[in-house]
Amino acid sequence: MPLRIGFDMDGVLADFASAFLEIETRLLGPDAHISADRPEVEEERESAGSRQQAAGSENEAGSRQQAAGSETEDTKEDTKTDGNTEAEGPSPRELRRQRDAIWNAIRTTPGFWEGLKPIEEGAVRRIHEMMLRHRWEVFFITQRPATDGDTVQRQTQHWLVEQGFDLPSVLVLGGSRGAAAGALRLDYHVDDSPQNCLDVIAESSVKPILIAPDADDKIVASARKLGIGSARSISVCLDILEEATTVRAEPRLLARIAALVGWK
Ligand SMILES: [Mg+2]
Repeated sequence: MPLRIGFDMDGVLADFASAFLEIETRLLGPDAHISADRPEVEEERESAGSRQQAAGSENEAGSRQQAAGSETEDTKEDTKTDGNTEAEGPSPRELRRQRDAIWNAIRTTPGFWEGLKPIEEGAVRRIHEMMLRHRWEVFFITQRPATDGDTVQRQTQHWLVEQGFDLPSVLVLGGSRGAAAGALRLDYHVDDSPQNCLDVIAESSVKPILIAPDADDKIVASARKLGIGSARSISVCLDILEEATTVRAEPRLLARIAALVGWK
């Protein structure tokens, strides 16, 4: 059986954070300091919003509750990202307004997802080459919000073809990454979100690899404790997958790689 490998898009292959920052600077000036949401977080917010609307629960009390809820979220995020106290930076409500303005600009940019830069030049081409050589089955899995222009799936396919991967299987999925990875019977899943990697560990026997460029030893150690492998970059991750594929028929060597990477 060929190995089946899932790759997340943003933060793994596509440089969403820089595009977000560019729009932020254009709209709010160079001093703004909103950290880029992961696209899946925004997509979930959006879907939850439309579900609420569909259920007709858009009464005043509901919106007040929602506003209060997102304030708490924003406050948490502020403290997490730059340690700013509320007195110094913009209020949570203002931050939410700014974040919404940026996302609004993203949604109204036709083909936004096609215009992203790659995180590492040549990484997608290398996955393609390895897919052919090792007869992998590769899935690109993403939960990006829709924008003007083509569907997210087609934009993502165009981007991958442009980067050197012909005939990419792109799955645009909401909900748990773990359930998806299990249903797809993946062997490995590569993601930059610790939450997605946790979902994968919790709900499937798939081995996750967390791409964590800035991770300190503590983060790597706690990922390892949970059985989540980690790599500092996509190219290091591809080296690991190359090795794991080469020794897959030799359990002792495979176990040694698993121990090095952090899989249980
Ligand atoms: Mg991601």
